[in-house]
Amino acid sequence: TSFDMMDLKDDLLRGIYQYGFEKPSAIQQRAVMPIIRGRDVIAQAQSGTGKTSMIALTVCQVVDTSSREVQALILSPTRELASQTEKVILAIGDFMNVQAHACVGGKSLGEDIRKLEHGVHVVSGTPGRVCDMIKRRTLRTRAIKLLILDESDEMLSRGFKDQIYDVYRYLPPELQVVLISATLPNEILEITSKFMTDPVRILV
Ligand code: AMP
Repeated sequence: TSFDMMDLKDDLLRGIYQYGFEKPSAIQQRAVMPIIRGRDVIAQAQSGTGKTSMIALTVCQVVDTSSREVQALILSPTRELASQTEKVILAIGDFMNVQAHACVGGKSLGEDIRKLEHGVHVVSGTPGRVCDMIKRRTLRTRAIKLLILDESDEMLSRGFKDQIYDVYRYLPPELQVVLISATLPNEILEITSKFMTDPVRILV
């Protein structure tokens, strides 16, 4: 499989090649098409497999950049990972003008509010900060169609379970969910059975 065969938007394909990728990694080969086609996906994968870039290229493909509403939400266990994901989205989505914003603790709320009011397509954040922004009604959820839970086992071990469930309650019912995790303990399977419908399972 090549990126050319994935039915991606031309400007996204240009972004991928400009970023320096030639061939999709295993997780990209197996997860991108089902996600783009709207399926819920459980991907068992470690970091270093190309999962961040997989997230970036799927969100760039699914957002409608002619709208200014948040359409994809990515939750990550750490500020660093959330910010890294934002950066890869901005880089790969460069030719498409995808607007992404990292909602993470330790930054001024004022900047989050300004960015979100200006309009972004994608939010990449940590569960605590995202939950806070939703409750303040600064982050509007009504157009969110894709939720990605990255390093889910790590989010749970950092005590984010309640915030993840809280965020989920604010999202529209017709939601597509992608869950990425290195391990699949019972607490993760609980999330997959509550949040997901007939998920595709991928092990890389
Ligand atoms: P990730 O798991 O997405 O953080 O990727 C790990 C490393 O592999 C990063 O340095 C990426 O830039 C690189 N990478 C991811 N996907 C590809 C690809 N399809 N081709 C070449 N390098 C890649």
